[in-house]
Order: sequence, then structure tokens, then C-alpha cells
Amino acid sequence: TRIRIYDSAIHQQNSREYRILYAFRTALERGNIVFWLQPQCSMPERRIVGAEALARWQMDDGNFLSPAVFIPILEKYGAVTALDKSIWESVCRWIRSWIDRGYTPLPISVNISRIDFFTIDVPAVLGKLISRYEIPPRYLKVEITESAYARDSEIIRENVGRLREMGFMVLMDDFGSGYSSLNMLKDLNLDVIKLDAQFLHLESQREKGASILESVVHMTRNLGTPIIVEGVETAQQLAYLTDLGCRYVQGFYFYRPMPLAEFEKIIREEDNIDTQGFLFKANQQLRVREFMDENIYSDAMLNNILGPVAFYYWHGEDVDIVRYNEQFFELVGIDLAAFHQRLKSIQTYIHPDDKQKFYDILREAKENPIVGAKGVVRTYRPNGVLVALALHVYLSGEDETGTRYYASAHDVTDLEFVSSELPGGYYRCTMDDGLHFLFLSESFLKMTGFTEEEIRGRFDNSLVRMIHPRDAENVRQECRAYIRREIRGFHPYRVLKRDGNYMYVADQSRLTDHYGPTCWESILIDISEVMHKRNQIQVLSKYMSDSILFLCDEGDGMLKYEVAIHGLRNRLGFDEEEFENLLNSGTFCHWIDGCRDISHQEYTRQFISTILETQRILKVTLPDGRRVRLLAWADRVDNDSSIQCIVHLRMLD
Ligand code: C2E
Ligand code: MG
Ligand code: MG
Repeated sequence: TRIRIYDSAIHQQNSREYRILYAFRTALERGNIVFWLQPQCSMPERRIVGAEALARWQMDDGNFLSPAVFIPILEKYGAVTALDKSIWESVCRWIRSWIDRGYTPLPISVNISRIDFFTIDVPAVLGKLISRYEIPPRYLKVEITESAYARDSEIIRENVGRLREMGFMVLMDDFGSGYSSLNMLKDLNLDVIKLDAQFLHLESQREKGASILESVVHMTRNLGTPIIVEGVETAQQLAYLTDLGCRYVQGFYFYRPMPLAEFEKIIREEDNIDTQGFLFKANQQLRVREFMDENIYSDAMLNNILGPVAFYYWHGEDVDIVRYNEQFFELVGIDLAAFHQRLKSIQTYIHPDDKQKFYDILREAKENPIVGAKGVVRTYRPNGVLVALALHVYLSGEDETGTRYYASAHDVTDLEFVSSELPGGYYRCTMDDGLHFLFLSESFLKMTGFTEEEIRGRFDNSLVRMIHPRDAENVRQECRAYIRREIRGFHPYRVLKRDGNYMYVADQSRLTDHYGPTCWESILIDISEVMHKRNQIQVLSKYMSDSILFLCDEGDGMLKYEVAIHGLRNRLGFDEEEFENLLNSGTFCHWIDGCRDISHQEYTRQFISTILETQRILKVTLPDGRRVRLLAWADRVDNDSSIQCIVHLRMLD
């Protein structure tokens, strides 16, 4: 034991640590260590319920040194308390200033190192801070990492008790990182548990990670403690966690830690925040396994609860059904005798357009053993009728020749029709100002060219953000007016497509509570072409100096005219009514020699015949006494509509 072997790596490590320690003092004094905030969101509304303050050390070169690097060193040498006290105070100062600026405060969590409990009286220090800055204790949450509980349980327990008595919310950080037993949760009085989703990332540990997560979620559910899951990075993780019943999420998927100014900008919008805090205690969800193990439910009951399920076996090109329940073959519309013949090569009964998709779902399920894969495929019933099946497929095992899957299915034929066969893009969205999508049909996606992922990512899942900036406010106002029953329809507006162009759409929206809380249910029709023509006509109408009228025969032999382009009227300085009067009045008769006192219809016919395919100059005295010369001619029209000919009127002087 008296012999130590010198290793230069230890020396290097030590001198690096000393360098950081030394630089830390100066950095703290100069204010180079600040905190950033990472929002914590409530699902499914994605509103911000709070944020975590995370230390950021800005180095001289402008880069940020990660707390994961310097905090362990500060802890080792007892310097972390200086950092923590400084961060806590900055956080309190900021909360005060935010309240003073008249905004709604959100609770902010600060991290507490286990070392702090040995170096200072944490509850007393925090108590002093909130009274100095006059902050209600509910706006400060404290995070204590799980490993601290495991190592120094007595002192931590005592401090947690005092903190909670003072009204602070106490969160257990990094739960699941592996130190404590699940049973420990029972003994601790905690307000919130923070679970780390990071171990869902590790390929090798995915399944293990998932089962740990599931146990913790169920455990906390029984205890009635809310959970925040941190480290959520992908939509898939999010879907998995929300399926488990987790309501609060902190992770890069929503927000990265950000400087104060950026955070303030976001929470200034009341729409982005939720001041209720961590209300939600996961309710007693039933665990399938619990009642599967206890043999109290009959097979028939279980089948009814599970709905149609089957096991697939995929080998080579072929997918066979190896097991199934009664509900499953009812769904595909086959009687038991015939079904046996249809167990092999089921891909042959799938609609040709969906075959590839079916294989893709199986492939995806294999890559994602935890969440499985979902998709709709259409399959033929023996009577030739197509049924659209929404499949949720999980990998169940593998051998040398093939792969086994478990699949649940339900009939979505009607929805599938709405989703892809209806003309126009069907969607449903929320009633709030953001118009957030609740359901997007295939046809909507096809029409815009975006995927659901892209719409979530680029537009925050909001229709308003897809609308041309010059139309968006108008759409919002029309929605509000519709809700107040002041209008019944919507003006066309422009929606962005993936290729960067906007399309004009006619929106047939209505409010419905058919699917739960009242939402918009709509079909969008692409009317870009019509709008393009309309715009052309509007431009012509504005800039042409001729008037162009359509002469129509609606089938009753009576001729009627419609003014298509108003150039002449504009040049004469008449309003619509004056011009109408001019066309209808006897004055017009004087335009044609010898044409007086005949009926209006007769006159029109005569007039047209004199100018048909020949140009005539008309000398006209206007009601106000002005005398003008007009050039008039008419062209016969040869088409299917009621339009018989086009009349041109042009002013010559
Ligand atoms: P923590 O308290 O568990 O904080 C969460 C960490 O996870 C933060 O790292 C955050 O940036 C990171 N994170 C958040 N969402 C994601 C995600 O989706 N993916 C991934 N990969 N990471 C995510 P950060 O800021 O580097 O902090 C590291 C640790 O340093 C913290 O872990 C905390 O234990 C400690 N720490 C930070 N600031 C302080 C402080 O002021 N005092 C004390 N004592 N410790 C601090
Ligand atoms: Mg933390
Ligand atoms: Mg953590």
C-alpha cells in the first residue's frame, strides 16, 4: 500500500481541473457564467408550463463550456455552491423583473448539487432569496438529482421536507439513471419526478430502457406523482411517451435551452403558456398484463377488448397468418372454412397499390420494436369488396427463415374514403387562432405536397402558418366572425405548397363537435386556376379602355347583356348605375339611325345586327350633354354556353 505508480494522465487531468477551477472564479466575478432556460411543455397542447435554468459558461473565444464538463469538477473541489447560489439569485432577479414588466410568471426550476446540502443551509438560502426578491415560492422549483437521494438519503430527506414546507416544489432529477430502487419512490415526498428518456436512444438498451420507463410510469401513477420526461428528441419517442400517459415533456424535440431574450419572446405570447403548472397526476390506467395474468377474464372478453388481432409470419415474398382471433376474420369478412385457405400469402389479397406499403410497415415495425409501425392497407374481402384496415404492427420474433409479427387491426374504410377519395383536401383543426391540425387526410397532404412530419416541423402543425402572410389575418378574422355567426362562408385564400408556390383554395369549413371538443372540419379545393382567370379579368377590367359586354340568350329567346369589362364606363366617369341606365335608356336608340320607339328587345336585335362583324362609329349624346364618338362592333360566339355574341364599345375621342 505504500507504493503508488505515477501516471502522466492523472497529472494532466489534475492540471486541467485546476485550470478550470481557477478560470471559474474569474468567470463568475465577471458575469461570464449565466443561465439559459429550457421550456417544459404540457401535452398535447404543447404549452409551456415552466422552464429549467441551466448554467452556461461563456468562454473568452465566445464558445460555451458545457455544465456536464465543469460541474463535476466544481463539485469535486467544493466550488459548485458558489455557482449555484449565483444562478439561483440570477433566476430570482429575472422572475422579479418579469413580474415587474407586467407579465404572467412561470415557475422556473434550479438545479441543486448534493454538495450544497453539506456546504450551506439550502432552504434558508432560498428562503432569503425569495423574500429579498418578493417572489411567491411556487415560482421556484428545485431539482435534486436522483443519485443524491441514494447517497445521502437522510440529509436530503430532511432538507426536502423543509423546502416543501416552505412552499417550494421539489423535483427529482434524472430518475432512471440507475441509482435508486423503484421502491424508494414510495418513501420520498416529492412533487414531480423527472425521467430521462435518453436511454431510449441507446440501440442496445432500447427494449430494456422501455421496460424501465414503463415500470416507472406505472409506479408513479400509483403514487399519483406527475412526471416530466426530459431528453425527448424525436416524434416517435414523444408518441410512445404520450401513449404511456406522460403529460409533461422537456427536450430538444420542442425547445433547446435558450438565452433569456429568446425565452421571453416566446412566453410573452399568452397562447404559448399554460399557467396551471404540473397539475396532472396520471390517472389510474389499467395495465393489460395485470388482468392477463390473473385468469379472471374469459377469452371472449379479452378478444373483445383487444379487437381484431393476428400474428403474421413473413418469409421471402410471402406473409402468412399463423394465429388470429375471431374478431380478425370477421373484419376481413370471411367465414371460418374459407379463411383457412386464405392464411397463406395474404399479400395477394391486398390492393396492388398498397402492397409495397404493407411490406414497408412490416419493415418499419422490425426497426422500431417498441412503438411498432402503423399504416392503412386495403384488402379484398372474398366478395370483392375492399376494406381499409388500419394496422398497428409489432415485431414479435425472428428465426432463420423469417420474421414474426403481432398486428392489431380495425376497419377504417369510411375514414379512408374521406381521407383519400373525396375531391379536395379534408382536414380538421382546432378552433383557436392557430388552427392546429387534428387530422390531416392523404388528399390534403397530396394537394400541398407536404408530409405530416413537415407540417409539424415547419408550420408547428398550424394551418395559419401555411397561409400566405397577406391572407392569414383575414382568415383568422373570418373564423372569428363565423364563430359569432356573422358570416357563413370564407373568401378564397392562398396556401403554401411544398414546391414553394402558393395555391388559391376555396375553404368549405364548418364547426363540428362530432369528434369531441368543437373543431373545424373542412375541405379545401384548389381553385388556383379559377382565381388566376379572375385576376386576369380584374386586371383587364381595370386597365382596358374598352367595354366588353356579353349578349346572352338564356333559352327563352330574350337577349340579356352582361358587362364583362368596364373600360368605357371608367373612361366616361360613370358609376355602375349610370352606365346601366345609359345602356337601357332610349339614349342608346339614338346611336342607331332611325331606331326609335321600338321595344327594347327588338332594338337590341337590330342594334346587334348593324354592328355584327362590321365596325360602326356611333355619335352619342350623353345625359350630361357631352357628345362622344364610339366605335362599336360585335363578334358572334360559337360555344356551348348561353353567350351569343361579344359587343365591343370603344371611345374614339
Ligand atoms: P439536468 O439537470 O438533467 O439538465 C438537463 C440536461 O439535458 C441539460 O444539459 C439539457 O441541455 C439536456 N437536454 C435537454 N433536452 C435534451 C434532449 O432532448 N436531448 C439531449 N441529449 N439532452 C437534452 P446541460 O445544460 O448540459 O446540463 C447538464 C447537467 O449539468 C444538468 O443536467 C445538471 O445536472 C447540471 N447543471 C446544469 N446547470 C446547473 C446548475 O446551475 N447547478 C448545478 N448544480 N448543476 C447544473
Ligand atoms: Mg436538472
Ligand atoms: Mg435531468
